[in-house]
Amino acid sequence: MPVEGHWRIEMSDQSQMIRDIEREVAYTRQMIGRSVLSESVMNAIRQVPREAFVPETERCFAYDNGPLPIGCGQTISQPYIVALMTDLLEVGDDAVVLEVGTGSGYQAAVLSRVVKQVYSVEIIETLSIQATATLQKLGYHNVSCQCVDGYLGWSEHAPYDGILVTAAAVEIPTPLIEQLKPGGRLVIPVGPPYDYQDLIVVEKSQTGEVREKMVLGVAFVPLTRSGK
Ligand code: SAH
Repeated sequence: MPVEGHWRIEMSDQSQMIRDIEREVAYTRQMIGRSVLSESVMNAIRQVPREAFVPETERCFAYDNGPLPIGCGQTISQPYIVALMTDLLEVGDDAVVLEVGTGSGYQAAVLSRVVKQVYSVEIIETLSIQATATLQKLGYHNVSCQCVDGYLGWSEHAPYDGILVTAAAVEIPTPLIEQLKPGGRLVIPVGPPYDYQDLIVVEKSQTGEVREKMVLGVAFVPLTRSGK
């Protein structure tokens, strides 16, 4: 609304974002196999201030239910997708999880409110340094970040109860399956870069068998490889 000759730009609000997530979950319930997300995931979304993870120029869009640029050609994912991927992991407060693609650190912060410990890897050093500082400043002390090629996972802390990949892979990285605990889940977008991909849930059974389930069409930035 124009106010005294100026456009008044208001910060989109978080309660609207929560309603948008709930609505999109309901719309997509047949594909995602649930009509609501768990209370712990929605509480985590409520607790994490998304505006602290986006550049100042994007701050007024922080609570829009859409992706936003974060620099270095990368994006912070859509809040609905962040919430959904966290829910699909089906992990509890004693879990140790790995995230591949720290980006802004927002998904790691959301995960940190749901699980015991988050390890997150990012291939772009600028983003890794920035996200580490943001997470530190906001007091997310159960998140550890490292700047490495996440295709290879982070073997030092493996095996993980859950692994979440927030960049699109052409194929499921074998090291990530190896670093998953029996009974654990890997949530990953798989498909061609700069196109639509399939969001896949990989389940590793107690006996080590691996089963894949396609959940939803998504569009993520590509998983790149160092030196490739
Ligand atoms: N989870 C992020 C958004 C991720 S965007 C958030 O909440 O903001 C995808 C990120 O994956 C980008 O920052 C990109 O640099 C990173 N990435 C791409 N390939 C990677 C790789 N091989 N290992 C680790 N990170 C990678």
